[in-house]
Amino acid sequence: MDTEKTLLKNFSQAELENFAQSKGHKAFRGRQLFQWIWEKGVDSFSEMSNLSKPFIEKLELTCNLELSTVHQVQTSETQGTSKFLIRLNDGRFVETVLIPESRRVTVCLSSQVGCALDCDFCATGKMGLKRNLTSGEIADQLLHVRRFSERLITNIVFMGMGEPFHNYDQVIKAANILNADSGFAHGARKITISTSGLVPQIRRFADEGHRFKLAVSLNASEDQSRTQIMPINKKWDIAELVKACKHYTETSKNMLTFEYVLMQGINDSSGDARRLKKIANQVFCKVNVIPYNEVAEGYQRPSKKRITTFLDALEGGRFGVTVRWSQGDDIDAACGQLSTAVQVEEA
Ligand code: SAH
Ligand code: SF4
Repeated sequence: MDTEKTLLKNFSQAELENFAQSKGHKAFRGRQLFQWIWEKGVDSFSEMSNLSKPFIEKLELTCNLELSTVHQVQTSETQGTSKFLIRLNDGRFVETVLIPESRRVTVCLSSQVGCALDCDFCATGKMGLKRNLTSGEIADQLLHVRRFSERLITNIVFMGMGEPFHNYDQVIKAANILNADSGFAHGARKITISTSGLVPQIRRFADEGHRFKLAVSLNASEDQSRTQIMPINKKWDIAELVKACKHYTETSKNMLTFEYVLMQGINDSSGDARRLKKIANQVFCKVNVIPYNEVAEGYQRPSKKRITTFLDALEGGRFGVTVRWSQGDDIDAACGQLSTAVQVEEA
């Protein structure tokens, strides 16, 4: 049975080197395996032409390369964004998004099936958490998208389904595969991990010295409204979150991004802009304002005029401001629209 076979894609490069040694081969054979899997992206052991025939036969009998398959791809006619519905071996689904723009091509990866954090405005949150993805399942998303994309992928963001820091070890393991020279060789500064604000993990990320970029979903300027839309704020409030963010920027010397999803009547007042400016002024950061994509009842995107007024009020701060007009909302591929609740097959 395939399910009893060793799933090689879930191994890091070092683990594959140990694996090769445990089978009586030199460690560099493990590195070659890693290269075949991720750099070259082959589907079968028989294509691994620099490995010996007996080793390939052994791998075929005992190991498996398949973790997920592309079930469906939807491409937005107007924006060119593609959404991949990916079927995992247990019949669950995740979504991955490819966003080609003029100067960059971004892939948005999922880290979990669903999400436990239950933010009130987010479609993924409404699913609850089904399960964590393994490092191999996360990296496999990029393999599928790389095969499909006509252009070179320039940016990778962990902003799909799930809370990356709720699946910390597997996400870091996957990010290392994306970054490894024998993996995808994707620059660490072009890989962004987005968190809803898990304070201990932000501190851990800082202390471990990772070079991947960090984005923090602030989404409110004071505790009452943040707690209303993001239950996690009850555990770690804005003051604690900001302290952890400062620890990150001071330890890593890296800039952090605050994401701020703008929702009418929730967090878009002039008082909100003033308070956001005060918070952002304390941290080495930029602010990414995301006009809300309407998915949940009771939440709306503010008018263009209100968005502009909010942005104007942020001017003069010690931080840069960008606006992310989400791509792919016509195929439900924009931020916060990913949900595969209705697409669970029996394994
Ligand atoms: N769980 C992580 C990463 C995935 S969500 C996090 O929360 O940061 C990625 C981004 O999408 C977050 O900034 C989140 O606040 C935002 N988001 C969620 N739902 C949204 C929606 N409906 N419209 C716009 N942005 C949304
Ligand atoms: Fe989870 Fe992020 Fe959605 Fe919140 S916004 S429910 S943390 S995916």
